Amino acid sequence: MESAAPAPVKVAFLWSERFRNRGYGRNHPLAIPRVPLTLDLIRSYDALKGGELIEARQATEDELGWFHAPDYLAAYANAECRQRVEMAERERYKLGTLENPYFEGFYTVPAIAAGASIQAAECVLNGQAAFNPAGGMHHARRDRAGGFCFLNDPVLAILRLRRADWRVLYLDIDAHHADGVEEAFRDDADVLTLSLHMNTGYAYPFAHGAFEDQGSRASGHTTINVPLPAGVHDAEYETVFDAIWYPALERFAPDAVVLQAGADALFLDPLARFKLTTQGFAAVVEKIVNAAPRHADGTPRLLVTGGGGYHLLGVARAWTAVWALLSGCDLPDSIPAEGAQAMRATGWELDEDEPWFASLFLSRFDAPFGLPVRGEIRRIAGAIRRHRFFACW
Ligand SMILES: [Zn+2]
Repeated sequence: MESAAPAPVKVAFLWSERFRNRGYGRNHPLAIPRVPLTLDLIRSYDALKGGELIEARQATEDELGWFHAPDYLAAYANAECRQRVEMAERERYKLGTLENPYFEGFYTVPAIAAGASIQAAECVLNGQAAFNPAGGMHHARRDRAGGFCFLNDPVLAILRLRRADWRVLYLDIDAHHADGVEEAFRDDADVLTLSLHMNTGYAYPFAHGAFEDQGSRASGHTTINVPLPAGVHDAEYETVFDAIWYPALERFAPDAVVLQAGADALFLDPLARFKLTTQGFAAVVEKIVNAAPRHADGTPRLLVTGGGGYHLLGVARAWTAVWALLSGCDLPDSIPAEGAQAMRATGWELDEDEPWFASLFLSRFDAPFGLPVRGEIRRIAGAIRRHRFFACW
């Protein structure tokens, strides 16, 4: 009668060969092949078998227009046709700046990444979980680029779920505040945006994201912001995360979770100032996978995107862990020779003098820090527990 083996989870990995093209020109933090290296590393473990590779398609102008302004989209698409950005457009739309530079595939490749997030949402609507590591561009605004982001694919994915009338919890564990996504849904009572991030007093985007900034008064608390000090390590992140994630999920009771899993909170990251180990990052993702709402067969109703993350090897290791958790695949501790070779072939040498550099190729785990939780972090967790975020839901 019972004990039929549980059906395997159904999970999709969104991929396009166009993601192999190096974007962002030269000398940009994102001019690194994060997504292809992630796929290569996953393949070296033979871990793709736990799910299905889906060919990403470019988002249509109509789909992009669910969120983005027509004049912005026209200027952006025209820049790729002309192969340059006009001065007036640079100023008005922040296109072609040092932060958001022009490159080959300037519009097409981000539009494929955005299409992939919409497809990922459709996968979730159809009974799967989904991972789009090329997505997670959470800083893009309706009518301008920002923070290396041109098209806000998390917003588009959420809007796709909203078209099916699903209630969505957006959780952002990127080291930076999810300003673009928060702004998009401030007035939608059926989308909760929850962002843990470096305090914007010392970190990009240098505005918003304060603990007191808890969303639109008109619609109740549809925004939760948890700004954190520099140096947050595994035990500290977990202390704060547990205080907010479980009550938010339980009280908001979403139909699906969209997770922006930027990997710039890793201690390796050259731009951000958190201090998570790969296993600390994975432990957070595991809690999300385990607690997310479920389809009837037990597959999590969970859409995961990439996001920030500027240490090429660190990002690929972290997102490989994300895929393994989503697809229910147990990985060995040591990195397969082929995976190590793929990592070496990138020529990454930013921190080759660091004592831990060699271990990046050997083990998927980092040496733990074993640091105590600071009083400041305990105070933040206490403030979260006392706050009546959920009173109006
Ligand atoms: Zn970031």
